[in-house]
Amino acid sequence: YLIQDPKYSFLKELGLQEKNVGVFNGKWEANGQVIQSISPASGKVIAEVQTASPADYEACAAAAQEAWHTWGELPAPTRGEIVRQIGDALREKLQPLGQLVSLEMGKILPEAIGEVVEYIHVCDLALGLSRSLPGTIFPSERPGHVLIEKWNPLGAIGIITAFNFPVAVFGWNSAIAMVCGDVSVWKPSETTPLISVAVTKIVESVLQKNNIPGAVAALCVGGKDIGAQLVKDERMKLVSFTGSTAVGQQVGVEVQKRFGRHLLELGGNNAIIVNEDANLDLLLNAALFACAGTAGQRCTTTRRLLIHKKVFNAVVSRLKKAYAGVISKIGDPLLSETLIGPLHTPAAVEAYKKTVAEVVKQGGKIEFGGKVMDREGYFVEPTIVTGLPHDSPLVKTECFAPIVYCIEIPDLDTGIKYNNEVEQGLSSSLFTENLGDVFKWIGPHGSDCGIVNVNIPTNGAEVGGAFGGEKATGGGRECGSDSWKNYMRRSTVTINYSGTIKLAQNIKFGD
Ligand code: NAD
Repeated sequence: YLIQDPKYSFLKELGLQEKNVGVFNGKWEANGQVIQSISPASGKVIAEVQTASPADYEACAAAAQEAWHTWGELPAPTRGEIVRQIGDALREKLQPLGQLVSLEMGKILPEAIGEVVEYIHVCDLALGLSRSLPGTIFPSERPGHVLIEKWNPLGAIGIITAFNFPVAVFGWNSAIAMVCGDVSVWKPSETTPLISVAVTKIVESVLQKNNIPGAVAALCVGGKDIGAQLVKDERMKLVSFTGSTAVGQQVGVEVQKRFGRHLLELGGNNAIIVNEDANLDLLLNAALFACAGTAGQRCTTTRRLLIHKKVFNAVVSRLKKAYAGVISKIGDPLLSETLIGPLHTPAAVEAYKKTVAEVVKQGGKIEFGGKVMDREGYFVEPTIVTGLPHDSPLVKTECFAPIVYCIEIPDLDTGIKYNNEVEQGLSSSLFTENLGDVFKWIGPHGSDCGIVNVNIPTNGAEVGGAFGGEKATGGGRECGSDSWKNYMRRSTVTINYSGTIKLAQNIKFGD
């Protein structure tokens, strides 16, 4: 086990052992199957985690619901103070937790640390929110009446997360939900179990110090069976699901069947439009990170470059040069010289191989890359494809690997049409120096995505704005802006202090 190797001593700093318990309901206890956590850079086992049985899930949900009675009654600023302390505890563990993300998920260390920083930023955001959660008073048409909008917590919520942002996505949900007064049961990806145990231990330490029940932030490591159990559970007032469109669609339908709430953050198929007047130095710099960075495993990775015909050849040839420059920097994500790590699983490598083979079959040209790398771990070459039609089924499908399709466009209007013609609607970006085109792009006939950028990559969002996408990306919004509303229920309250009954619209009923 890698955990025995002194090189990975950060694992012990996070309280991890060779055999870990993957269920926390206030106490750490699990009775499900034991799984191995694998490092994608080597294919070697890091350590073991015992997952949840159906009865363990049941205990988590019951304990969370019980804990809500205490947590939901605390003043929001008191809850904010706990979240502030969680932010501080994360700051203390920033380095080892970042290293663990790199080791278990496979992204490079600066991005892994960035992910923990994102959780810290959300704690800061949530702290402010805890002292400014709004409630409005509207003017009543009736004399001696007040009309109040009152927000209350939902109760228990379920958080199901994907492998590729194993810390940040939990943080986005958890920090905001906590100040809103909710408790949560977290079902992380079964391929990043150690990260979820380490994060929960950090949160637990803060809750314990403040005498708050641990089940305010319950953890249930498990596979899709545990996920499905959570989705069906009527006690989970909201299911916040981050993952693929295929699974998210099933989750949405199941939650709707019981009239629960869902927040869906699903797949993307993100494009950068390169206008004829684009600053190509800026574009190339952004595109390298957006297309090849994180080995193509961000929901906001650029998968399509829609390039004006006047600059098409220049962009493709310069991008190939840029890719050639990073190929020697693919490797162990924990090393400082590495720019691109591995894919996360052997299944992802298979999906990459299948897509590349299909590209060739469909008449596409592999301009760069296209091969699995001959070394231990799950490494593939970042890949540039030309020659496929804009509406080819391959181009319209999200393959979660570093493959970008370059497509020529005659003008911006066509670029916008292609941008919008895929079923997903997460992120998009336009590179231009033309102010009029910027406003067209962000206007009613511009990009139909949830994230609409100008002169920056499609990936790398900040926490202040609302994050999420339209159409098959699910429509959910998390993190900043008014996303907190997802985690609360609204009551419209009318209070009569006039001493007489007056009906709205001045309706007379009887005398
Ligand atoms: P996935 O859909 O395979 O799994 C996501 C989570 O769902 C995991 O925890 C998994 O165990 C669970 N799950 C699987 N089947 C389930 C079921 N039937 N019921 C309940 N839960 C179930 O996704 P993944 O491979 O882990 O992540 C990659 C995908 O996530 C990509 O499509 C990516 O675009 C998307 N993603 C989206 C965002 C966003 O914010 N829009 C962010 C990150 C990732």
